Amino acid sequence: MNSDNKRILSGMRATSPKLHLGNYEGALRNWVDLQNKGYEMFCMVADWHSLTTMSENSGEIGHNSIEITKDYIAAGLNPEKSAIFIQSHVKEHAELHLLFSMMTPLGWLERTPTYKEKKAEIEGAEREPYGLLGYPVLQTSDILLYRPYGVPVGRDQAPHLEIGNDIGQRFNRLYKTEIFPTYKYLIPEDETRAKLPGLDMRKMSKSYDNGINLSDTAEETAKKIKTAYTTPTKIKMDDPGIPEGCAVCQYLKVYSPDWQTQWEEDRQGLRGCSKNKNECIEAVNEYFRPMRERRAQLADGDVLEILNKGAERAREVACATMVEVRVAMGLLA
Ligand code: ATP
Ligand code: MG
Repeated sequence: MNSDNKRILSGMRATSPKLHLGNYEGALRNWVDLQNKGYEMFCMVADWHSLTTMSENSGEIGHNSIEITKDYIAAGLNPEKSAIFIQSHVKEHAELHLLFSMMTPLGWLERTPTYKEKKAEIEGAEREPYGLLGYPVLQTSDILLYRPYGVPVGRDQAPHLEIGNDIGQRFNRLYKTEIFPTYKYLIPEDETRAKLPGLDMRKMSKSYDNGINLSDTAEETAKKIKTAYTTPTKIKMDDPGIPEGCAVCQYLKVYSPDWQTQWEEDRQGLRGCSKNKNECIEAVNEYFRPMRERRAQLADGDVLEILNKGAERAREVACATMVEVRVAMGLLA
């Protein structure tokens, strides 16, 4: 791959109609920065990936995809500059997935931490879908179709991205080609942003419903932050807090310019949790107000048009890669 490769690919699952602050901090904020620095962005809504956990209620995925696209645009993705598209509209993702599935060792997939976690939640091989194990193979196809320089994601995606580079290099070795570059993982340096805690201090996740959403109203945001997990041993105002283990303090660190003073006062028992919560509510609502206003202006029809155009641009790149892949493998292209 030549050194002026400035292409970027990333995506979100359509498992909810609402992206949360973790999705924004871990990935979307970086997408917008990279776009504004002149990178060629391919931003996908990963509807097929949603099926690994939503095959029984797939009816919501289409609606979720439109709403997530609205979040992308509200956060600053510009459809004139960046290709925004739905994974299933570019069928080459499925073709490359199939080809990669023939040459990916099962052991690599069985060792993936997210696979082990999800498998434990599902209980029993009879209920475990085949696609769950293959998730990183599909994700690798999503990425490598675009032969990107980098993939901006949150910390939880790092193990999948490693497998992706391994699969790409294995393909190159097997078929004596250099089609696939080794891409970089663009994970936020700040650990709080790379893995933002949810209101309950687990990872903020769409499927845990423990998040504050980009599209929440100021009132919904306030209600949620009031219930957020704080230092359990801080009962009276002057009990010392442990900001590292308190969800509200974590959000202050990201959104409040005064967080260092707020943390110090919390640690020394100079302020109570309700003061932290009120200042946090104000900081979060202030930060997301312009995005929420932009989002309210977006109509479904406009979003569908943007997605059609985005899929066309994505298809051009994806089809060109597939021709090279078929030739390298000796299939009739
Ligand atoms: P689900 O629970 O359905 O898996 P999710 O909230 O984990 O949803 P994904 O669609 O899986 O979201 O991930 C989209 C992007 O957001 C990925 O780059 C992922 O790393 C990032 N991300 C998800 N949760 C967080 C978080 N709490 N902090 C930082 N980044 C996150
Ligand atoms: Mg996830």
